[in-house]
Amino acid sequence: MSKFWSAAIRDLTPYVPGEQPKVNNIIKLNTNENPFGPSPKVAHTIHSFESDRLRKYPDPDSAKLKSAIATYYSVKSDQVFVGNGSDEVLAHAFMAFFRQKQPMLMPTITYSFYDVYCNLYNIDYEHVALDEDFSINLKNYQRPNGGIIFANPNAPTGKALPLKDIENLLEINTESVVIVDEAYVDFGADSAVSLINKYPNVLVIQTFSKSRSLAGMRVGFAMGNSELIEGLERVKNSFNSYPLDMLAQDTAVAAIEDKTYFEHTTQQIIVNREWTNTQLEALGFIAVPSKTNFIFAKHRHIAGAELMGFLRTHNILVRHFSRPGIDNHLRITIGTLEEMQALISCLKKHPDLTVLE
Ligand code: PMP
Repeated sequence: MSKFWSAAIRDLTPYVPGEQPKVNNIIKLNTNENPFGPSPKVAHTIHSFESDRLRKYPDPDSAKLKSAIATYYSVKSDQVFVGNGSDEVLAHAFMAFFRQKQPMLMPTITYSFYDVYCNLYNIDYEHVALDEDFSINLKNYQRPNGGIIFANPNAPTGKALPLKDIENLLEINTESVVIVDEAYVDFGADSAVSLINKYPNVLVIQTFSKSRSLAGMRVGFAMGNSELIEGLERVKNSFNSYPLDMLAQDTAVAAIEDKTYFEHTTQQIIVNREWTNTQLEALGFIAVPSKTNFIFAKHRHIAGAELMGFLRTHNILVRHFSRPGIDNHLRITIGTLEEMQALISCLKKHPDLTVLE
């Protein structure tokens, strides 16, 4: 605390991202990164990039990237917004749509950055409980509100909602913006992008960090009605004209144009996930059915913090949240098959772990 801080920042509790260790001999299953590199076309783009171009500012509108995203999802360019990671897109969306008289609604267990944005922007919000099995029950959101956000699939649970449930909510909830954060949608869930022409208040937010393996480039995007996009542009252009550098714009175009590589790698992650799930269950874990590149699971007898610490001593990082209700769970990112085999072999060495047949 410093006397120089403005009052607005004194009570903030910033988001704490998962650890990025400085050493290399670690199996890193804690921040939902993609174990496969980005498309080889991304490497080609980087190698052929002429550094002299960097003298100039990048395109403030990221027009080529918006057009590539629009083509991929069969929407119009003015229905696409891009930002420096979907975290930035989310932050702008909270500012643009959720500062309302009524509180906005979000699940009790979801991406913990949402609360942080509310506190930063002074947005009133309420948490809505999940069902026992961690399902988001959209019936509980059918009441007056200043906006709604949920991640689909949800994080850190990995559970996905059927598209028809989202559409049912949109039929009724016409007076506030509904944001669907689809950071993990490409690993087996259905995107709500098909609803953006029908419902002017739905905003779908996605990222290049997970399924397109560009976490280090920081590229996220939103798709929605052009008036919602214009609202986001107003915030962006009041904050930073150039959120995406030239290399980020070029590599994201290369990544989205390589559909074959994208399909192959996301499919491989799904295969590795299902293998890991079966193995974990055989070791006495209860896993939430996942449509993401991670598994949220707890052991029947062994505490989550203990297992996380045990794995850590064997150079395997997984994520553990010490929040009541989920403090026995581990969130395990899906890596390569070799990494998942190493995880399972390591868990088998835990002294309290009995292998169930
Ligand atoms: N939404 C969810 C649900 C996430 O888990 C993450 C990753 N931490 C993000 C958004 C942000 O991802 P990025 O800023 O890398 O696009």
